[in-house]
Amino acid sequence: MAQVSPPQPVRGTQSLLGEEADRFHTVTAAFDRVRRLFGFKRVEVPVIEPTAVFARSLGETTDVVSKEMYSFEDKGGDSVTLRPEFTAGIARAYLSEGWQQYAPLKVATHGPAFRYERPQKGRFRQFHQLDAEILGAAEPQADVEMLLFADQLLKELGIGGNAVLKLNTLGDPETRQKWRDALSGHFSKHAADLSEDSRDRLERNPLRILDSKAHADWPIVDAAPPIDDFLTPEAADFFAAVTSGLDAAGVRWERAPRLVRGLDYYRHTAFEFMTDSLGAQGTVLAGGRYDGLVEALGGPHTPAIGWAAGIERLAMMIDAPEPDRPDTVLVPMGEAAEQRAMAILADLRRQGIAADMAYRGNMKKRMQRASASGARTAIILGDSELASEAAQVKELSSGEQRAVAFDMLAAAVRA
Ligand code: ATP
Ligand code: MG
Repeated sequence: MAQVSPPQPVRGTQSLLGEEADRFHTVTAAFDRVRRLFGFKRVEVPVIEPTAVFARSLGETTDVVSKEMYSFEDKGGDSVTLRPEFTAGIARAYLSEGWQQYAPLKVATHGPAFRYERPQKGRFRQFHQLDAEILGAAEPQADVEMLLFADQLLKELGIGGNAVLKLNTLGDPETRQKWRDALSGHFSKHAADLSEDSRDRLERNPLRILDSKAHADWPIVDAAPPIDDFLTPEAADFFAAVTSGLDAAGVRWERAPRLVRGLDYYRHTAFEFMTDSLGAQGTVLAGGRYDGLVEALGGPHTPAIGWAAGIERLAMMIDAPEPDRPDTVLVPMGEAAEQRAMAILADLRRQGIAADMAYRGNMKKRMQRASASGARTAIILGDSELASEAAQVKELSSGEQRAVAFDMLAAAVRA
């Protein structure tokens, strides 16, 4: 038979074991804990959506839609897309599942997302996001709540000190239109000196030039008129309500006057938690108010705000979590003892004790396994223990050993 080579993973995907998987779980467990503290309901949404869900909501001109989507035709000829993010699918469900009746609706979820990007440190094709959204809330309190949720999560993960909240306002539609016109005027004057990417954006979406990664654009970006020159009194009040809420809660923030979300449906609050400990991939959590998105999907006007965070990037930043270890390991010798050990093992686990059994090799090998597992105790049983209905419980750190009746084992090994 011809030799086949074992299959390789799809580029940009990861399989995790041990510490890396534990890190990942630590992030999602903290998210789930904080989500509950803030009263966000857990939701599940599909990994695949009709392509139109993302094309309409993210906008054809964004990097995600124009270059990064995993779209394909299914066997029925429909164009479907693996979600590149959660917000659009949640907004779709809000409309198609009748979730509007619960507005204001606070929801949170996490899971895989897919983007066809060049893989590098902190950047994958299948990556994972935490996501939180409030749909149907126009009040600045919702913005504050979203930001406090993010802040507490990062603090509970122990990376609050490394991450800075950068905050901006994009104003209301009137503000945004005036600012956009002013930016168009400014960038048109300097069009000849702009990068090709930015010249391209000039026509379609001048706000996104502020995001430019081309060094040559930066002096021109720095000289651009700031949004504060165009804020309507209402938009200024809204931003003041958000910042005073943050101040009242004791959350530190920095104004980032050039932080934008490129899409037209973003309004008011825009934010990112940035860090310098991840090299080029500095954004760990990003979000904003997207009052126009549900309308872009064909629904009624629905003010909403949300954020997403990359799990892999958070997982890289946290301290290594304690690995799982059993409370105790059974070490039986002989066939009869192994049989009895099975019953004891099942009983201990039913009583909530993390228990394992060493069943390979001689006594020495089995004891080595028990020690290596990190358990506090080993439960040793052979023929004489069976006869006396009492096992030897050994403290693995001190080597101390004592006889414990079989029906008292749970109490003896409970951590
Ligand atoms: P970037 O500028 O790094 O490409 P983005 O603006 O595309 O980020 P968002 O769409 O705001 O990112 O997604 C929210 C978060 O998801 C990011 O802050 C990041 O932590 C994470 N993220 C986005 N794309 C990837 C990826 N390809 N691999 C790993 N994490 C990612
Ligand atoms: Mg990106």
